[in-house]
Amino acid sequence: QTLALQDPALLRESAYINGLWHDSADRFDVMNPSNGSLLARVSNLNSDDAENAIQAAQAAFGSWSAKTGKERAQLMRRWFDLMNLHADDLARIMTAEQGKPLAEAKGEVVYGASFIEWFAEEAKRVAGDVLSTTAADKRMLVLRQPIGVCAAITPWNFPIAMITRKVAPAIAAGCTIVIKPAEQTPLSALALAELAHRAGIPAGVVNVLTADGARSVDIGKHLCNSTVVRHLSFTGSTPVGRILMQQSAPTIKKLALELGGHAPFIVFEDADLEAAVEGALQSKYRNAGQTCVCTNRFYVHRSLYQEFVAKLVAGARKIQVGDGLTAGVQQGPMIDAQAIAKVQEHVSDALSKGAQLCTGGQQHAAGALFFEPTVLADVTDDMLVMQEETFGPVAAVMAFDTEEQVIAAANATDFGLASYFYSRDIARVWRVAEKLEYGMVGINTGLMSNEVAPFGGVKQSGLGREGSRYGMDEYLEMKYLCMGQM
Ligand code: ADP
Repeated sequence: QTLALQDPALLRESAYINGLWHDSADRFDVMNPSNGSLLARVSNLNSDDAENAIQAAQAAFGSWSAKTGKERAQLMRRWFDLMNLHADDLARIMTAEQGKPLAEAKGEVVYGASFIEWFAEEAKRVAGDVLSTTAADKRMLVLRQPIGVCAAITPWNFPIAMITRKVAPAIAAGCTIVIKPAEQTPLSALALAELAHRAGIPAGVVNVLTADGARSVDIGKHLCNSTVVRHLSFTGSTPVGRILMQQSAPTIKKLALELGGHAPFIVFEDADLEAAVEGALQSKYRNAGQTCVCTNRFYVHRSLYQEFVAKLVAGARKIQVGDGLTAGVQQGPMIDAQAIAKVQEHVSDALSKGAQLCTGGQQHAAGALFFEPTVLADVTDDMLVMQEETFGPVAAVMAFDTEEQVIAAANATDFGLASYFYSRDIARVWRVAEKLEYGMVGINTGLMSNEVAPFGGVKQSGLGREGSRYGMDEYLEMKYLCMGQM
Protein backbone atom coordinates (compact mmCIF):
# COMPACT_ATOMS: atom_id res chain seq x y z
CA GLN A 1 0.00 0.00 0.00
CA THR A 2 2.95 2.26 0.69
CA LEU A 3 4.11 1.06 -2.71
CA ALA A 4 1.58 2.81 -4.88
CA LEU A 5 3.33 2.69 -8.24
CA GLN A 6 2.36 4.39 -11.47
CA ASP A 7 3.35 1.19 -13.23
CA PRO A 8 2.67 -1.77 -10.89
CA ALA A 9 4.23 -4.19 -13.41
CA LEU A 10 7.64 -2.96 -12.24
CA LEU A 11 7.19 -4.82 -8.99
CA ARG A 12 8.36 -8.34 -9.80
CA GLU A 13 8.71 -11.34 -7.51
CA SER A 14 10.08 -13.78 -10.11
CA ALA A 15 13.67 -14.10 -11.19
CA TYR A 16 14.64 -13.25 -14.77
CA ILE A 17 16.47 -15.90 -16.81
CA ASN A 18 16.84 -16.07 -20.58
CA GLY A 19 14.25 -13.36 -21.15
CA LEU A 20 11.60 -15.16 -19.08
CA TRP A 21 10.23 -14.67 -15.58
CA HIS A 22 11.19 -17.66 -13.54
CA ASP A 23 9.24 -18.75 -10.45
CA SER A 24 10.32 -21.17 -7.80
CA ALA A 25 8.19 -22.85 -5.13
CA ASP A 26 10.62 -21.71 -2.48
CA ARG A 27 10.45 -17.98 -1.76
CA PHE A 28 12.02 -15.45 0.59
CA ASP A 29 10.62 -12.34 2.20
CA VAL A 30 11.65 -8.82 1.32
CA MET A 31 10.99 -6.42 4.17
CA ASN A 32 10.74 -2.66 4.49
CA PRO A 33 13.46 -1.71 7.00
CA SER A 34 11.51 1.39 8.07
CA ASN A 35 8.65 -0.55 9.63
CA GLY A 36 9.33 -4.26 9.20
CA SER A 37 6.39 -4.75 6.84
CA LEU A 38 6.46 -7.45 4.18
CA LEU A 39 6.94 -6.02 0.68
CA ALA A 40 7.21 -9.11 -1.48
CA ARG A 41 7.94 -12.83 -1.54
CA VAL A 42 10.62 -13.37 -4.13
CA SER A 43 11.75 -16.58 -5.88
CA ASN A 44 14.53 -18.26 -3.94
CA LEU A 45 16.76 -19.82 -6.59
CA ASN A 46 19.45 -22.46 -6.28
CA SER A 47 22.60 -23.47 -8.10
CA ASP A 48 20.68 -25.38 -10.80
CA ASP A 49 18.92 -22.14 -11.68
CA ALA A 50 22.31 -20.42 -11.70
CA GLU A 51 23.53 -23.01 -14.19
CA ASN A 52 20.49 -22.35 -16.40
CA ALA A 53 21.25 -18.65 -16.34
CA ILE A 54 24.90 -19.28 -17.21
CA GLN A 55 23.82 -21.47 -20.14
CA ALA A 56 21.40 -18.80 -21.32
CA ALA A 57 24.12 -16.17 -21.11
CA GLN A 58 26.48 -18.41 -23.05
CA ALA A 59 23.88 -19.08 -25.73
CA ALA A 60 23.21 -15.35 -26.11
CA PHE A 61 26.89 -14.39 -26.22
CA GLY A 62 27.47 -15.28 -29.87
CA SER A 63 24.82 -13.05 -31.36
CA TRP A 64 25.16 -10.26 -28.79
CA SER A 65 28.91 -9.95 -29.25
CA ALA A 66 28.47 -10.05 -33.03
CA LYS A 67 26.30 -6.93 -32.99
CA THR A 68 28.05 -3.67 -33.71
CA GLY A 69 28.79 -1.36 -30.82
CA LYS A 70 26.27 1.03 -32.28
CA GLU A 71 23.52 -1.61 -32.27
CA ARG A 72 24.19 -2.46 -28.66
CA ALA A 73 24.30 1.24 -27.84
CA GLN A 74 20.85 1.81 -29.32
CA LEU A 75 19.28 -0.87 -27.11
CA MET A 76 21.12 0.42 -24.06
CA ARG A 77 19.95 3.94 -24.81
CA ARG A 78 16.36 2.67 -24.73
CA TRP A 79 16.99 1.05 -21.37
CA PHE A 80 18.44 4.34 -20.10
CA ASP A 81 15.40 6.27 -21.36
CA LEU A 82 13.02 3.81 -19.68
CA MET A 83 14.87 4.16 -16.38
CA ASN A 84 14.42 7.90 -16.52
CA LEU A 85 10.79 7.59 -17.56
CA HIS A 86 10.10 5.34 -14.58
CA ALA A 87 12.49 7.06 -12.16
CA ASP A 88 9.75 7.83 -9.63
CA ASP A 89 8.59 4.23 -9.41
CA LEU A 90 12.15 2.89 -9.28
CA ALA A 91 12.89 5.30 -6.44
CA ARG A 92 9.80 4.23 -4.49
CA ILE A 93 10.71 0.57 -4.84
CA MET A 94 14.24 1.33 -3.71
CA THR A 95 13.19 3.38 -0.70
CA ALA A 96 10.71 0.70 0.34
CA GLU A 97 13.25 -2.14 0.35
CA GLN A 98 16.42 -0.25 1.21
CA GLY A 99 15.26 2.62 3.42
CA LYS A 100 17.13 5.58 1.91
CA PRO A 101 15.10 8.81 1.62
CA LEU A 102 13.10 9.13 -1.58
CA ALA A 103 15.15 12.08 -2.85
CA GLU A 104 18.34 10.09 -2.37
CA ALA A 105 16.77 7.07 -4.08
CA LYS A 106 15.79 9.24 -7.03
CA GLY A 107 19.36 10.52 -7.13
CA GLU A 108 20.60 6.96 -7.27
CA VAL A 109 18.25 6.10 -10.14
CA VAL A 110 19.69 9.00 -12.14
CA TYR A 111 23.24 8.07 -11.11
CA GLY A 112 22.59 4.39 -11.92
CA ALA A 113 21.11 5.24 -15.31
CA SER A 114 24.11 7.44 -16.11
CA PHE A 115 26.33 4.35 -16.34
CA ILE A 116 24.06 2.89 -19.00
CA GLU A 117 24.15 6.12 -21.01
CA TRP A 118 27.91 6.48 -20.60
CA PHE A 119 28.81 2.93 -21.60
CA ALA A 120 26.30 2.97 -24.46
CA GLU A 121 28.33 5.85 -25.83
CA GLU A 122 31.60 4.06 -25.11
CA ALA A 123 30.36 0.92 -26.91
CA LYS A 124 31.02 2.74 -30.18
CA ARG A 125 34.60 3.62 -29.24
CA VAL A 126 36.15 0.25 -28.50
CA ALA A 127 39.11 -0.02 -30.82
CA GLY A 128 42.19 -2.12 -31.30
CA ASP A 129 45.67 -1.10 -32.35
CA VAL A 130 48.20 -1.51 -35.13
CA LEU A 131 51.72 -1.78 -33.70
CA SER A 132 54.95 -0.80 -35.36
CA THR A 133 56.57 -3.93 -36.67
CA THR A 134 59.83 -5.61 -35.62
CA ALA A 135 60.39 -7.26 -38.99
CA ALA A 136 59.82 -5.97 -42.52
CA ASP A 137 57.64 -8.96 -43.50
CA LYS A 138 55.47 -8.90 -40.40
CA ARG A 139 52.43 -6.90 -39.33
CA MET A 140 51.24 -6.83 -35.72
CA LEU A 141 47.80 -5.91 -34.45
CA VAL A 142 45.82 -5.92 -31.24
CA LEU A 143 42.13 -6.79 -31.17
CA ARG A 144 39.95 -6.03 -28.19
CA GLN A 145 37.21 -8.58 -27.75
CA PRO A 146 34.52 -9.15 -25.10
CA ILE A 147 35.70 -11.51 -22.39
CA GLY A 148 32.55 -13.69 -22.51
CA VAL A 149 29.96 -14.61 -19.91
CA CYS A 150 30.25 -12.42 -16.80
CA ALA A 151 28.78 -12.64 -13.31
CA ALA A 152 27.98 -9.83 -10.87
CA ILE A 153 27.27 -10.09 -7.16
CA THR A 154 25.97 -6.82 -5.76
CA PRO A 155 25.18 -5.24 -2.37
CA TRP A 156 22.09 -3.61 -0.87
CA ASN A 157 23.44 -0.12 -0.21
CA PHE A 158 23.09 0.98 -3.86
CA PRO A 159 20.52 -1.47 -5.22
CA ILE A 160 20.51 0.00 -8.74
CA ALA A 161 23.81 1.79 -9.27
CA MET A 162 25.99 -1.14 -8.21
CA ILE A 163 24.23 -3.24 -10.84
CA THR A 164 24.32 -0.78 -13.72
CA ARG A 165 27.98 0.09 -13.03
CA LYS A 166 28.81 -3.55 -13.82
CA VAL A 167 26.15 -4.51 -16.35
CA ALA A 168 26.52 -1.45 -18.56
CA PRO A 169 30.23 -1.85 -19.40
CA ALA A 170 29.79 -5.63 -19.70
CA ILE A 171 26.98 -5.54 -22.24
CA ALA A 172 28.43 -2.51 -24.04
CA ALA A 173 31.60 -4.54 -24.60
CA GLY A 174 29.53 -7.42 -26.00
CA CYS A 175 29.51 -9.65 -22.93
CA THR A 176 26.43 -11.27 -21.41
CA ILE A 177 25.87 -11.34 -17.66
CA VAL A 178 24.29 -13.14 -14.72
CA ILE A 179 23.48 -10.87 -11.77
CA LYS A 180 22.92 -11.99 -8.18
CA PRO A 181 21.59 -8.96 -6.30
CA ALA A 182 21.64 -8.67 -2.51
CA GLU A 183 18.92 -10.59 -0.70
CA GLN A 184 17.76 -7.40 1.03
CA THR A 185 17.12 -5.52 -2.23
CA PRO A 186 16.10 -7.83 -5.10
CA LEU A 187 13.10 -5.72 -6.13
CA SER A 188 15.16 -2.88 -7.59
CA ALA A 189 17.17 -5.42 -9.59
CA LEU A 190 14.02 -7.07 -10.93
CA ALA A 191 12.50 -3.71 -11.88
CA LEU A 192 15.68 -3.01 -13.86
CA ALA A 193 15.32 -6.40 -15.57
CA GLU A 194 11.72 -5.57 -16.49
CA LEU A 195 12.92 -2.35 -18.12
CA ALA A 196 15.77 -4.13 -19.91
CA HIS A 197 13.18 -6.54 -21.28
CA ARG A 198 10.96 -3.69 -22.47
CA ALA A 199 13.97 -1.99 -24.04
CA GLY A 200 14.47 -5.06 -26.21
CA ILE A 201 17.74 -6.30 -24.73
CA PRO A 202 17.73 -9.86 -26.14
CA ALA A 203 17.00 -12.95 -24.02
CA GLY A 204 20.00 -14.25 -22.08
CA VAL A 205 22.04 -11.04 -22.29
CA VAL A 206 20.99 -9.85 -18.82
CA ASN A 207 19.82 -12.40 -16.22
CA VAL A 208 18.85 -11.80 -12.59
CA LEU A 209 19.07 -14.60 -10.01
CA THR A 210 17.30 -13.85 -6.74
CA ALA A 211 18.16 -15.78 -3.59
CA ASP A 212 18.20 -15.47 0.18
CA GLY A 213 21.43 -15.29 2.18
CA ALA A 214 22.10 -19.04 2.33
CA ARG A 215 21.27 -19.70 -1.32
CA SER A 216 23.38 -16.69 -2.32
CA VAL A 217 26.37 -18.54 -0.90
CA ASP A 218 25.54 -21.63 -3.03
CA ILE A 219 24.99 -19.54 -6.14
CA GLY A 220 28.23 -17.65 -5.46
CA LYS A 221 30.11 -20.95 -5.36
CA HIS A 222 28.48 -22.10 -8.57
CA LEU A 223 29.33 -18.88 -10.40
CA CYS A 224 32.95 -19.11 -9.22
CA ASN A 225 33.29 -22.80 -10.16
CA SER A 226 31.87 -22.33 -13.64
CA THR A 227 34.42 -22.43 -16.44
CA VAL A 228 31.92 -20.66 -18.68
CA VAL A 229 31.89 -17.60 -16.41
CA ARG A 230 35.06 -15.72 -17.35
CA HIS A 231 34.73 -12.68 -15.14
CA LEU A 232 33.25 -12.00 -11.74
CA SER A 233 32.55 -8.52 -10.48
CA PHE A 234 31.70 -8.13 -6.82
CA THR A 235 30.83 -5.17 -4.63
CA GLY A 236 30.50 -5.88 -0.93
CA SER A 237 32.50 -6.58 2.18
CA THR A 238 36.21 -7.45 2.18
CA PRO A 239 35.67 -10.84 3.92
CA VAL A 240 33.21 -11.96 1.22
CA GLY A 241 35.55 -10.58 -1.46
CA ARG A 242 38.29 -12.78 -0.05
CA ILE A 243 36.03 -15.85 -0.18
CA LEU A 244 35.10 -15.15 -3.80
CA MET A 245 38.76 -14.62 -4.73
CA GLN A 246 39.67 -17.96 -3.16
CA GLN A 247 36.77 -19.69 -4.88
CA SER A 248 37.83 -18.21 -8.21
CA ALA A 249 41.38 -19.51 -8.03
CA PRO A 250 40.66 -22.95 -9.56
CA THR A 251 39.19 -21.40 -12.72
CA ILE A 252 41.66 -18.44 -12.83
CA LYS A 253 38.70 -16.14 -13.17
CA LYS A 254 39.24 -12.47 -13.86
CA LEU A 255 37.99 -10.47 -10.89
CA ALA A 256 36.81 -6.97 -10.19
CA LEU A 257 36.37 -6.32 -6.49
CA GLU A 258 34.94 -3.22 -4.86
CA LEU A 259 35.33 -3.90 -1.16
CA GLY A 260 35.27 -2.09 2.13
CA GLY A 261 36.72 1.31 2.88
CA HIS A 262 37.78 3.24 5.96
CA ALA A 263 37.83 6.74 4.59
CA PRO A 264 39.80 9.46 6.36
CA PHE A 265 38.64 13.08 6.12
CA ILE A 266 41.36 15.61 6.95
CA VAL A 267 40.73 19.28 7.70
CA PHE A 268 43.96 21.29 7.53
CA GLU A 269 44.48 24.61 9.31
CA ASP A 270 44.12 26.51 6.02
CA ALA A 271 40.77 24.89 5.12
CA ASP A 272 37.53 26.73 4.45
CA LEU A 273 35.83 25.58 7.64
CA GLU A 274 32.24 26.07 6.51
CA ALA A 275 32.85 24.10 3.31
CA ALA A 276 34.62 21.37 5.28
CA VAL A 277 31.66 20.98 7.63
CA GLU A 278 29.25 20.83 4.72
CA GLY A 279 31.40 18.21 2.96
CA ALA A 280 31.72 16.29 6.21
CA LEU A 281 27.96 16.10 6.68
CA GLN A 282 27.47 14.93 3.08
CA SER A 283 30.20 12.35 3.14
CA LYS A 284 29.26 10.98 6.57
CA TYR A 285 25.49 10.82 6.83
CA ARG A 286 24.44 10.04 3.25
CA ASN A 287 22.59 6.70 3.07
CA ALA A 288 22.71 6.66 6.91
CA GLY A 289 26.47 6.23 6.65
CA GLN A 290 26.09 3.01 4.69
CA THR A 291 28.37 3.60 1.73
CA CYS A 292 31.88 2.30 1.22
CA VAL A 293 33.09 5.85 0.50
CA CYS A 294 31.49 7.36 3.62
CA THR A 295 34.00 9.04 5.92
CA ASN A 296 34.85 6.88 8.89
CA ARG A 297 37.53 9.02 10.57
CA PHE A 298 37.78 12.80 10.84
CA TYR A 299 41.20 14.33 11.52
CA VAL A 300 40.95 18.05 12.23
CA HIS A 301 43.87 20.39 12.84
CA ARG A 302 43.99 21.38 16.49
CA SER A 303 43.54 25.07 15.66
CA LEU A 304 40.09 24.38 14.12
CA TYR A 305 39.12 21.35 16.15
CA GLN A 306 36.65 22.82 18.68
CA GLU A 307 34.92 24.94 16.09
CA PHE A 308 34.66 22.07 13.59
CA VAL A 309 33.17 19.72 16.18
CA ALA A 310 30.63 22.35 17.27
CA LYS A 311 29.51 22.98 13.69
CA LEU A 312 29.39 19.29 12.83
CA VAL A 313 27.25 18.63 15.91
CA ALA A 314 24.89 21.47 14.94
CA GLY A 315 24.59 20.01 11.45
CA ALA A 316 24.05 16.45 12.69
CA ARG A 317 21.28 17.61 15.02
CA LYS A 318 19.40 19.15 12.09
CA ILE A 319 19.22 15.89 10.12
CA GLN A 320 15.63 14.68 9.91
CA VAL A 321 15.38 10.98 10.61
CA GLY A 322 12.39 8.86 9.60
CA ASP A 323 10.68 6.75 6.98
CA GLY A 324 12.29 7.53 3.64
CA LEU A 325 8.92 7.93 1.94
CA THR A 326 8.01 10.84 4.25
CA ALA A 327 8.71 14.24 2.70
CA GLY A 328 11.65 16.08 4.20
CA VAL A 329 13.33 13.03 5.72
CA GLN A 330 17.11 13.05 5.23
CA GLN A 331 18.15 9.85 6.99
CA GLY A 332 16.30 6.55 6.81
CA PRO A 333 16.77 3.31 8.74
CA MET A 334 19.79 1.05 8.78
CA ILE A 335 19.39 -2.02 6.59
CA ASP A 336 18.99 -4.64 9.33
CA ALA A 337 19.52 -5.55 12.98
CA GLN A 338 23.10 -6.64 12.35
CA ALA A 339 23.96 -3.23 10.91
CA ILE A 340 22.55 -1.41 13.90
CA ALA A 341 24.30 -3.79 16.32
CA LYS A 342 27.66 -2.96 14.70
CA VAL A 343 27.05 0.77 15.06
CA GLN A 344 26.08 0.31 18.71
CA GLU A 345 29.19 -1.76 19.31
CA HIS A 346 31.43 0.93 17.80
CA VAL A 347 29.82 3.67 19.88
CA SER A 348 29.97 1.80 23.18
CA ASP A 349 33.55 0.71 22.52
CA ALA A 350 34.56 4.32 21.87
CA LEU A 351 32.76 5.62 24.96
CA SER A 352 34.30 2.93 27.15
CA LYS A 353 37.75 4.04 25.95
CA GLY A 354 37.19 7.71 26.69
CA ALA A 355 35.56 9.27 23.61
CA GLN A 356 33.23 12.18 24.19
CA LEU A 357 29.62 11.79 23.02
CA CYS A 358 28.64 15.16 21.49
CA THR A 359 25.27 14.20 20.03
CA GLY A 360 23.24 11.07 19.28
CA GLY A 361 24.65 7.74 20.31
CA GLN A 362 21.46 5.73 20.50
CA GLN A 363 18.70 4.06 18.62
CA HIS A 364 16.36 6.73 17.25
CA ALA A 365 12.73 7.01 18.33
CA ALA A 366 11.56 6.49 14.71
CA GLY A 367 11.88 2.71 15.05
CA ALA A 368 13.95 -0.37 15.72
CA LEU A 369 16.40 0.09 12.85
CA PHE A 370 16.91 3.83 13.14
CA PHE A 371 20.04 5.30 14.68
CA GLU A 372 20.60 8.89 15.75
CA PRO A 373 23.11 10.95 13.75
CA THR A 374 26.05 10.74 16.12
CA VAL A 375 29.25 12.69 16.73
CA LEU A 376 32.05 11.30 18.88
CA ALA A 377 34.94 13.66 19.72
CA ASP A 378 38.39 12.99 21.20
CA VAL A 379 38.52 9.52 19.71
CA THR A 380 41.81 7.59 19.84
CA ASP A 381 43.50 5.07 17.55
CA ASP A 382 42.71 2.08 19.76
CA MET A 383 38.96 2.44 19.25
CA LEU A 384 37.04 0.24 16.79
CA VAL A 385 35.72 3.31 14.95
CA MET A 386 39.29 4.20 14.04
CA GLN A 387 40.20 0.71 12.92
CA GLU A 388 37.31 -0.58 10.82
CA GLU A 389 34.39 0.59 8.76
CA THR A 390 31.40 1.53 10.96
CA PHE A 391 28.91 1.70 8.06
CA GLY A 392 26.56 3.89 10.05
CA PRO A 393 25.78 7.51 10.98
CA VAL A 394 28.64 7.94 13.45
CA ALA A 395 31.26 10.65 12.97
CA ALA A 396 34.46 10.00 14.93
CA VAL A 397 36.65 13.09 15.28
CA MET A 398 40.24 13.47 16.41
CA ALA A 399 42.66 16.42 16.53
CA PHE A 400 46.07 16.41 14.83
CA ASP A 401 49.10 18.70 14.84
CA THR A 402 51.25 18.11 11.76
CA GLU A 403 50.75 17.20 8.10
CA GLU A 404 53.26 14.38 8.36
CA GLN A 405 51.49 12.87 11.36
CA VAL A 406 48.06 13.01 9.77
CA ILE A 407 49.17 11.46 6.47
CA ALA A 408 50.76 8.60 8.38
CA ALA A 409 47.57 8.12 10.39
CA ALA A 410 45.38 8.24 7.28
CA ASN A 411 47.50 5.61 5.54
CA ALA A 412 47.80 3.30 8.56
CA THR A 413 45.10 0.90 7.38
CA ASP A 414 44.71 -2.07 5.06
CA PHE A 415 41.92 -0.23 3.26
CA GLY A 416 42.41 2.28 0.45
CA LEU A 417 39.16 3.30 -1.21
CA ALA A 418 38.08 6.93 -0.67
CA SER A 419 39.83 9.72 1.21
CA TYR A 420 39.03 13.40 1.63
CA PHE A 421 40.89 16.51 2.65
CA TYR A 422 40.30 20.24 2.85
CA SER A 423 43.06 22.76 2.23
CA ARG A 424 43.49 25.99 0.25
CA ASP A 425 47.26 25.75 -0.07
CA ILE A 426 47.97 24.57 -3.62
CA ALA A 427 51.36 23.05 -2.80
CA ARG A 428 49.86 21.14 0.10
CA VAL A 429 46.98 19.97 -2.08
CA TRP A 430 49.41 18.32 -4.50
CA ARG A 431 51.67 16.98 -1.76
CA VAL A 432 48.91 15.37 0.25
CA ALA A 433 46.99 14.06 -2.77
CA GLU A 434 50.12 12.27 -3.97
CA LYS A 435 50.88 10.76 -0.58
CA LEU A 436 47.46 9.39 0.30
CA GLU A 437 47.36 5.65 -0.44
CA TYR A 438 43.81 5.63 -1.76
CA GLY A 439 42.14 4.96 -5.08
CA MET A 440 40.13 8.17 -4.77
CA VAL A 441 40.87 11.52 -3.18
CA GLY A 442 38.21 14.18 -2.67
CA ILE A 443 39.87 17.59 -2.36
CA ASN A 444 37.62 20.26 -0.88
CA THR A 445 34.59 18.10 -1.61
CA GLY A 446 32.74 15.35 0.17
CA LEU A 447 31.07 13.92 -2.93
CA MET A 448 32.97 12.61 -5.93
CA SER A 449 31.26 9.58 -7.50
CA ASN A 450 30.00 9.87 -11.07
CA GLU A 451 30.03 7.84 -14.26
CA VAL A 452 32.92 9.77 -15.82
CA ALA A 453 35.48 9.02 -13.11
CA PRO A 454 37.24 5.74 -12.24
CA PHE A 455 35.83 4.34 -9.00
CA GLY A 456 37.88 1.83 -7.06
CA GLY A 457 40.37 1.14 -4.34
CA VAL A 458 43.91 0.02 -3.57
CA LYS A 459 45.19 -2.40 -0.90
CA GLN A 460 42.38 -4.58 0.49
CA SER A 461 39.67 -2.27 -0.82
CA GLY A 462 39.71 -4.11 -4.09
CA LEU A 463 40.83 -4.68 -7.65
CA GLY A 464 39.92 -2.85 -10.81
CA ARG A 465 38.05 0.36 -11.58
CA GLU A 466 34.43 0.91 -12.48
CA GLY A 467 32.84 3.67 -14.52
CA SER A 468 34.85 6.04 -16.72
CA ARG A 469 36.59 5.22 -20.00
CA TYR A 470 38.79 2.79 -18.07
CA GLY A 471 35.78 0.80 -16.83
CA MET A 472 35.25 -0.99 -20.13
CA ASP A 473 38.76 -2.53 -20.12
CA GLU A 474 37.63 -4.90 -17.39
CA TYR A 475 35.29 -6.63 -19.86
CA LEU A 476 37.63 -6.73 -22.86
CA GLU A 477 40.44 -9.14 -23.60
CA MET A 478 43.34 -8.20 -25.81
CA LYS A 479 44.26 -10.50 -28.64
CA TYR A 480 47.57 -10.07 -30.41
CA LEU A 481 47.67 -10.94 -34.10
CA CYS A 482 51.04 -11.47 -35.73
CA MET A 483 50.88 -11.72 -39.53
CA GLY A 484 53.91 -13.11 -41.35
CA GLN A 485 54.94 -13.25 -45.02
CA MET A 486 53.54 -9.82 -45.70
P1 ADP B 1 27.14 -6.57 3.31
O1 ADP B 1 27.95 -6.89 4.52
O2 ADP B 1 27.20 -5.19 2.86
O3 ADP B 1 25.76 -7.18 3.30
P2 ADP B 1 28.18 -8.73 1.81
O4 ADP B 1 29.56 -8.71 1.31
O5 ADP B 1 27.81 -9.63 2.91
O6 ADP B 1 27.90 -7.23 2.14
O7 ADP B 1 27.13 -8.99 0.64
C1 ADP B 1 27.22 -8.44 -0.64
C2 ADP B 1 26.69 -9.46 -1.62
O8 ADP B 1 27.43 -10.65 -1.48
C3 ADP B 1 25.23 -9.84 -1.45
O9 ADP B 1 24.68 -10.01 -2.73
C4 ADP B 1 25.31 -11.17 -0.73
O10 ADP B 1 24.20 -12.00 -0.98
C5 ADP B 1 26.55 -11.75 -1.33
N1 ADP B 1 27.24 -12.74 -0.51
C6 ADP B 1 27.43 -12.75 0.82
N2 ADP B 1 28.16 -13.82 1.19
C7 ADP B 1 28.46 -14.50 0.07
C8 ADP B 1 29.22 -15.69 -0.22
N3 ADP B 1 29.82 -16.38 0.72
N4 ADP B 1 29.30 -16.08 -1.52
C9 ADP B 1 28.71 -15.37 -2.50
N5 ADP B 1 28.00 -14.26 -2.28
C10 ADP B 1 27.87 -13.82 -1.03
